[in-house]
Amino acid sequence: MDTNLVVGAGFSGAVIANLLADKLGEKVLVIDKKEHIAGNSYDYTDENGIKIHKYGSHIFHTNNEKVWEFLKNFTDLNTYMHRVVAVIDGIETTIPFNINTLYDVLPQSLAKRLEEKLLDVFEYNTKVPILEFQKQNDSDLKFLADYVYEKVFLHYTNKQWGTSPKEVDSAVTARVPVFISRDDRYFQDKYQGIPVCGYTRTIEKMLKHPNIEIKLNTDYKDIKGDFKRIFYTGPIDEFFDYKFGQLPYRSVNFKLETHNHEYYQCNAVVNYPCNYDFTRIHEYKYYLNDISSKTVIAKEYSEDFVLGKNDRYYPVPKEENKKLYDRYLSEAEKLNNVYFLGRLGDYKYYNMDQAIERAIEVFERIVK
Ligand code: FAD
Ligand code: UDP
Repeated sequence: MDTNLVVGAGFSGAVIANLLADKLGEKVLVIDKKEHIAGNSYDYTDENGIKIHKYGSHIFHTNNEKVWEFLKNFTDLNTYMHRVVAVIDGIETTIPFNINTLYDVLPQSLAKRLEEKLLDVFEYNTKVPILEFQKQNDSDLKFLADYVYEKVFLHYTNKQWGTSPKEVDSAVTARVPVFISRDDRYFQDKYQGIPVCGYTRTIEKMLKHPNIEIKLNTDYKDIKGDFKRIFYTGPIDEFFDYKFGQLPYRSVNFKLETHNHEYYQCNAVVNYPCNYDFTRIHEYKYYLNDISSKTVIAKEYSEDFVLGKNDRYYPVPKEENKKLYDRYLSEAEKLNNVYFLGRLGDYKYYNMDQAIERAIEVFERIVK
């Protein structure tokens, strides 16, 4: 009865477990149904010495000082700055769509005219979500907005979400805004990079504490006993036996290939917004500059999550899903000493730093 139970050993579970064990000196049992810790951030070194992100490329980035203060106790970041190459009409360029992209994909005289118009309308370094950007009156900028919508967003979003950019929550495409800048990095955050020791090792260090016990291959439904508190980072609908119905998710299938040459592509991530069935190709050795005569890539295919067939990767941000989630949340609020957090527990499209921030916030609420 004096032990806390943490369900899930991803970032959310590891952060809350660490804080309970270290700051409050309490006992914590962490369980995960997977055979490894680190949840979707799990990485491992393969036989070629290449660090593979098993569930797709993970790049840490944050502006949140509190998150960084916490994380830096467990790892340094390297100085990797993420850029995403996209192939548009066979041309390799960078996204978010920025001023460099303009000159890469359009005739130079047209690009120059559009650049001047953009800088007349928007301040330098402004980020404009595509659905906002489409509300232009000027005919040149309208052309540009339609071009970007079609070439960057329409087909990619259809592949990724099975629906058009106008039918997913606007926050989804706003993650990759049109950027009125020459800065072609994917993120502008103050802290960004890859943990030098890897994500799994970082989380292992969070969980390595005399007050923490870990049980892998262990599902919550098989756990018996009384606990002081339960922190549940699994899917909230599953916790309540789907009594109101299932919360929809998108799943992803990564097809790994090993190639017998040093590099496969020019960048860690190359997006294919116009061609092929996969959305993007990851080449993992770029992240930590792994030296190998071989290289490992993963082609990312998106599909609907189907219970029992594949895994949950992306909550689907849509009004009707939020309403369903809210029904589960009301049930959750009736429980004593059970806390929901994490991408699955909160049904929110968290980045890693947001998952960490949320776990710290849950901890602070308990301490108060
Ligand atoms: P998870 O990592 O999903 O951990 C939840 C854990 O709970 C899992 O290990 C699961 O097995 C366990 N669990 C679930 N149900 C049960 C149960 N019943 N019993 C026991 N255990 C259970 N974020 C970034 O910041 N940068 C990126 O570049 C980035 N790239 C991403 C790419 C992809 C393809 C995806 C899917 C996500 C990406 N993310 C990225 C988001 C990142 O993965 C999440 O923010 C992070 O993993 C959330 O951690 P979590 O602990 O909440 O969830
Ligand atoms: N997106 C797109 N084309 C791209 C990149 C992103 O249409 O080339 C849209 C798509 O809807 C995607 C969303 O922007 O789901 C967010 O992209 P992000 O790279 O942030 O997604 P994640 O890395 O979380 O999969």
